Amino acid sequence: MKLNERSEKNLVGVHPDLVKVVRKAAELTAVSFIVTEGVRTLERQRQLVAKGAAQTLRSRHIPENNQSRMSCAVDLAALVGGQVRWDWPLYERLAVAMKMAAQAVGVPLEWGGDWRSFKDGPHFQLPWQTYP
Ligand SMILES: [Zn+2]
Repeated sequence: MKLNERSEKNLVGVHPDLVKVVRKAAELTAVSFIVTEGVRTLERQRQLVAKGAAQTLRSRHIPENNQSRMSCAVDLAALVGGQVRWDWPLYERLAVAMKMAAQAVGVPLEWGGDWRSFKDGPHFQLPWQTYP
């Protein structure tokens, strides 16, 4: 699949290694997706935490939290027939494509759906250990 204009816009300011993974995943995936968010402001993160949609202000989406001063996280949304869908199994399939892509381009990757508490299916990030 081809990344649409919105996805391309949301990849601006994202770490190039993570962008590589997303582009490769677009080639491999059986489930279509869009990139809904890359760079996030601290202000927006505060709002998300207040709403319970995020748990920490130490988000990898916020460039200032990362040594690279770029976003080290992206959120994806699955598309079925051009419509955004939130069914969990779609995100498991997206995660398979993203992990395959990460391996293919040699970039380590974490999926929010693998976290034990607060599973975050749309969220993918570069690990803190390798990308502090
Ligand atoms: Zn996220």
